[in-house]
Amino acid sequence: MQQAAFEQRPRYDLVVVGAGPAGATAAAVAARGGLRVALLEKYSLPRHKPCGGGLPLPVQRELLDLAPEAVVDGRVRSMRHSWGFQRAVEAPIDPPGTPPQQSRGLLMVQRPCFDHALVRQAQAAGAELLEGHAFVGLERAAGGVTLQVRRRAVAGTLLADAVIGADGAAGGVAACVGLRRSPRIALAIELEVPHRWDPAEPLLRPDLLHLDYGTLRRGYAWLFPKADHLNIGAGLFHGRLRDVRRDPSARERIRTAIAATAASLGIAEERLTGLRAHAHPLPFWDGPEPLHSADGRVLLVGDAAGLINPLFGDGLFHAIRSGRLAAEALLAGDPTSHTARVHGLLADDFEAARRLARVFYAIPRLAFRHAISQPRATPVAVGLLGGEVSFQGLGRRALRRVAAGLVHDLGWRVATGNQP
Ligand SMILES: Cc1cc2nc3c(=O)[nH]c(=O)nc-3n(C[C@H](O)[C@H](O)[C@H](O)COP(=O)(O)OP(=O)(O)OC[C@H]3O[C@@H](n4cnc5c(N)ncnc54)[C@H](O)[C@@H]3O)c2cc1C
Repeated sequence: MQQAAFEQRPRYDLVVVGAGPAGATAAAVAARGGLRVALLEKYSLPRHKPCGGGLPLPVQRELLDLAPEAVVDGRVRSMRHSWGFQRAVEAPIDPPGTPPQQSRGLLMVQRPCFDHALVRQAQAAGAELLEGHAFVGLERAAGGVTLQVRRRAVAGTLLADAVIGADGAAGGVAACVGLRRSPRIALAIELEVPHRWDPAEPLLRPDLLHLDYGTLRRGYAWLFPKADHLNIGAGLFHGRLRDVRRDPSARERIRTAIAATAASLGIAEERLTGLRAHAHPLPFWDGPEPLHSADGRVLLVGDAAGLINPLFGDGLFHAIRSGRLAAEALLAGDPTSHTARVHGLLADDFEAARRLARVFYAIPRLAFRHAISQPRATPVAVGLLGGEVSFQGLGRRALRRVAAGLVHDLGWRVATGNQP
């Protein structure tokens, strides 16, 4: 490979690897705080990222100067939950009696546009975007870090005082410093089906999101409405293997669930023909672990830090918040506080969500019947997504409800000999 180092470049205070939501937020906050920042991204922007693009409203507090209206594609007002496409229950996101001006909804974004807007904000704050530059490796240099970088066939180096690894599920930065050695990896696939909204199709509405829990064991399938397409996907979240990608039947089962979801909503099979299905790993939270190197020179955020909620599989809000926290730790001159800052914000809730997920994915039919399909469950779920309801309090209540339901169902079965 041709060796043409990027020696002309200055030494940076911070190189952020990965221009997703976590990296772009970290770069924006650090640059605003006066650091000299490079934001490294292996693709040219805007780039596609497989994602449902669902975001809870409180994320708007984290978008700095970005107006949500500039990046939001639509707003979901109701969710339709089903079990194997039967027993469907539609529930509004707002708790009953919410005045219209306080209506919340779940924000829908398209990732190429959303991520690019965050990157532009980082650039406006002074961060230098190096797109088409792939991080290859790093080594400690005197008082800093040397990053090996590749741009097309050209290899080079960058020097920095600190590095934030925001490089997503692949997490090359983490591997270089011996962090996240054995991540728990889930797998999801999504398909974008071009769509024109038609009132004659009552099940397909731009304000309605669909979730089915019965078609894919240990995961769920979804349809998220977007302005010009339907995002249909499914995720196998709690497979028997620690890394779901190693399960040879996983992809096929997920694809089958996607096709079944489309069919159940009256979307003709031909509309899926020729569309590219995007598969992507999801690094689930698997307990507290170090998120920075011992010397505080390398910090991890977002998916690279395994910050995906183990119950729902969402990661955008946590990516953005952890990006901010990493930049704040550096600006405070206290980078080794990074892990504690992230854990302080997320660990208790994620641990409670992990306990709940173990129960939920082991007995999904009962959980659907006695928790998810109940009228109050939808506003509570959206509160959990936005961090306004804590998983800890909910966990005990939900488990009690499911246990009471189990007793009721057993009684019913004994009395009638039928499944309730
Ligand atoms: C199918 C699917 C649906 C999902 N739906 C939702 C949802 O509805 N809501 C939600 O909250 N979450 C959802 N998630 C999770 C969400 O997509 C992630 O949690 C989120 O993208 C994490 O952001 P990030 O910035 O940490 O990483 P990413 O968005 O993955 O960004 C990482 C960036 O790093 C770049 N990069 C990688 N390697 C290198 C390298 N070597 N050099 C330079 N750059 C590099 C990548 O190109 C990328 O731009 C979904 C995930 C999947 C797979």
